[in-house]
Amino acid sequence: MAARRASPARGRIVVNEAICNGCELCAAVCPNDLIRMADHYNAKGYRPATLLDPEW
Ligand code: SF4
Repeated sequence: MAARRASPARGRIVVNEAICNGCELCAAVCPNDLIRMADHYNAKGYRPATLLDPEW
């Protein structure tokens, strides 16, 4: 995979862990590589998406 270039912020990332199904699509397409799957599980039993830098 080609290296990703940082792009200017165009909004704010908010993950609703309660409804995340852990599909990892957001992590795969994040242009700044800011999203990972959490180490914990939500109430549905999925590892939700989480932000590497909550300030973004
Ligand atoms: S992993 Fe990302 S794209 Fe998939 S359900 Fe959770 S927040 Fe949405």
